[in-house]
Amino acid sequence: MTHQRSIEDLRAEVDQINRDLLTLLSKRGEVVAQIGHAKTQEGRPNHYDPAREDKQLKEIESLNQGPFTSAAVKAIFKEIFKASLDLEESNDKKQLLVSRKVKSEDTVLDIDGVRIGGDAPPILVAGPCAIESEEQMEQTAAFLAARGVKILRGGAYKPRTSPYGFQGMGVDGLILGSRVAKEHGMLFVTEVMDTRDVEIVAEHADILQVGARNMHNFALLREVGRSRRPVLLKRGLSATIEEWLYAAEYILSEGNNEVILCERGIRTYEKWTRNTLDLSAVALAKQETHLPVIVDVTHAAGRRDLLIPLAKAALAVGADGIHVEVHPSPATALSDNEQQLDFAGYDKFSDALSSLLRQPATV
Ligand code: PEP
Ligand code: MN
Repeated sequence: MTHQRSIEDLRAEVDQINRDLLTLLSKRGEVVAQIGHAKTQEGRPNHYDPAREDKQLKEIESLNQGPFTSAAVKAIFKEIFKASLDLEESNDKKQLLVSRKVKSEDTVLDIDGVRIGGDAPPILVAGPCAIESEEQMEQTAAFLAARGVKILRGGAYKPRTSPYGFQGMGVDGLILGSRVAKEHGMLFVTEVMDTRDVEIVAEHADILQVGARNMHNFALLREVGRSRRPVLLKRGLSATIEEWLYAAEYILSEGNNEVILCERGIRTYEKWTRNTLDLSAVALAKQETHLPVIVDVTHAAGRRDLLIPLAKAALAVGADGIHVEVHPSPATALSDNEQQLDFAGYDKFSDALSSLLRQPATV
């Protein structure tokens, strides 16, 4: 009669095997992490390699002597591969300069005394879609400055859907925008669309805007990263949150840490709004990165009647500021005339938000 081992005895052996397996798994994880780093260094962003996985599975299958079926063994190894891939990718993310894992405290910009992010009260960025004339800019800046707005916006280079639409005043617009902003003690933010213009725009603007259509323009991201100006980075029309943060990473990787993220709605199937404002992106960007995050309600909604509730919601999820278009006479504006606020509209807008704008973001 063969001696039967007790269940307890067998379980003790299983426990030891578990420990041995765990040691081996940890060892495997460490090696995999090293492979991940090597791939990153070689500039190979794709960690997933299906051909390599297939090769490993085939070898494991051929070596399997039971008692587990090949299907069971393959399923177990597939789980190991998946966990290893997650590890490779998360190690990659850990090194991102935009990440809170690299810098846990909020980045607070201080641009000539205007503080953005962290414990600073939410800021307002306001002004016309496009710079159109001296009178228009002068009236807008005087109106907004009198209401405490510190950052004047206005496009001198406009990314228009049609090449025949008003393309902006170019350098004349830059000169005008910066002069008017200065006269009213405001900062001037304006969009730069072309790497060749970064130098001239940086000469006149206090903050460089990279628009939604250029969020994927990596050459431009690198170029503004090399400039000495803070950058307002809009989220791309159909960009994932990850792509948006990688776009910011391009700027930081060139040595420019002064980036403000701006959610401005993404393209969905919805037709009653111009874009769909993604507030989870704001909450997530605040959670994952240390950068200030503001919300452009104008381009998100594309309609005036939603600006107040959307701005309230944005501030409630922790946005560090609101971006809104204001024009002395929206009906005659050369771009975005459906959505810009007139002065009376702006007063209603800022009154509705006044209590939320006084305190720092609490989320
Ligand atoms: C803008 O702010 O002028 C603009 C064109 O916005 P977006 O890039 O978000 O469309
Ligand atoms: Mn606009």
